[in-house]
Amino acid sequence: MGGVELLDELRGIVGSGHVLVGADVRAGYEVDWTGRFRGTSPAVVRPGGTDEVARVVEACARAGTAVVPQGGNTGLVGGSVPLQGEIVVSLRRLDALGPVDAASRQVLVGAGAALAAVQAHAAAAGLAVGVDLAARASATIGGMVATNAGGLSFLRHGGMRRQVVGLEAVLGDGSIVAPLRGLAKDNTGYDLTGLLCGSEGTLGIVTRVRLQLVQPPAERSTALVPVPDLAAAVGLVASAHRAGLQVEAAEGFFDDGLLLVCRHLGLARPTPASTAYLLLDWAGPVDQLAAVAGIDDAVVATDAAGRAGLWRYREAHSDAINALGVPHKLDVTLPLADLDAFAVEVRTRVAAIAPGATVVLFGHVADGNLHVNVVGGPDDDTVDDVVLRTAASRGGSISAEHGIGTAKRRWLPLVRSEEELAAYRRIKAALDPAGILNPNVLL
Ligand SMILES: Cc1cc2nc3c(=O)[nH]c(=O)nc-3n(C[C@H](O)[C@H](O)[C@H](O)COP(=O)(O)OP(=O)(O)OC[C@H]3O[C@@H](n4cnc5c(N)ncnc54)[C@H](O)[C@@H]3O)c2cc1C
Repeated sequence: MGGVELLDELRGIVGSGHVLVGADVRAGYEVDWTGRFRGTSPAVVRPGGTDEVARVVEACARAGTAVVPQGGNTGLVGGSVPLQGEIVVSLRRLDALGPVDAASRQVLVGAGAALAAVQAHAAAAGLAVGVDLAARASATIGGMVATNAGGLSFLRHGGMRRQVVGLEAVLGDGSIVAPLRGLAKDNTGYDLTGLLCGSEGTLGIVTRVRLQLVQPPAERSTALVPVPDLAAAVGLVASAHRAGLQVEAAEGFFDDGLLLVCRHLGLARPTPASTAYLLLDWAGPVDQLAAVAGIDDAVVATDAAGRAGLWRYREAHSDAINALGVPHKLDVTLPLADLDAFAVEVRTRVAAIAPGATVVLFGHVADGNLHVNVVGGPDDDTVDDVVLRTAASRGGSISAEHGIGTAKRRWLPLVRSEEELAAYRRIKAALDPAGILNPNVLL
């Protein structure tokens, strides 16, 4: 089937108003959040329900036309944009929010629901979503499942895979799988839900998700603590655990990043200057911090506005970096003992090959997860190569939480064996026999 016939068939499935072909209306779907990855698409298709997604995928598979599933388009590895002329399947119309079940503390939501909408919905029932991230206003639950998002509460509640108790998805041949019952115990063979989490749109298009919600703490405090280096930050988190604090989040950043944020937002320095900072968030009263040894000059807050004010210094890093130029964003994990040495080494290595570049590091330190941002370096992949190889050589991972996408495919063999990659390919062939789902991602 030719392109025109396929588009006509898609119009028949979703309605012509939901097949976007004009260059101006397609534009926002064709470039990623960083501006680094862009392509063009013959059309953006916006199905309104699972059946429509299934018929769209089946028609594309029959036509041999590749598709890119897209949620909020906040992914940072170029996985959500059409780099080779794929059709974009936007899931944003699938944003229904089911009632929160008080007994099981579960909720069934559409894959296109934005995280912030689901958070508000859960909060109205006195509950919370176990994963939180700064892109909450746009990132969708389906995208978060597809990337197995980590985020700010990973330390406390784990990543997206742990919050998902069932999902519905359309596989590459248009068939629908829906292990959605949400039973606490259901030991009946392969874990399709777990397999689709983190599959980055290469095995199926997630259409609905049953989430396990969590109980938010009654009281919460936040401290911004100056520290000499990341090793000290990691040590303080361990001390906080030892002192009995229920740590909800532990984020780290450096003075250059803090100053960048201050300039970007017109804010003053929050604490005396230091090499690095730990943002510690715990469930409990502020005076518990006194039990944690080695904390000087911390700024603390317990009320919502004060806590949000401290969190801004961390959460605004991504926007402040983007304002400098198009960043190369490399999200890596290190063994905790190597985190600080990695931070020093990576700056030295990047400076050697890109002397004029700006390097900003921040991340979820208690998880060993650093986001390495490089702006103003070469356009090619030389910086990526150095950063990812440095992480792998220290026993780390080339992707902590953002996924592989297009950006890191080349380096997957650094952390996955030939045998593992061969198994990946066989799984892909089984669930997407025509190879139409996100063919430029992961493998
Ligand atoms: C400011 C900022 C902060 C961020 N902080 C974090 C963080 O702390 N932790 C973290 O893990 N990430 C973070 N991210 C990255 C991003 O928000 C996450 O990867 C998020 O999960 C992407 O969701 P999305 O809906 O925007 O997905 P998209 O960007 O639209 O897509 C991401 C990938 O998932 C696929 N996909 C999307 N929807 C579906 C679907 N329904 N079915 C199948 N595949 C699908 C796409 O094809 C693509 O491969 C951040 C991003 C920004 C901009």
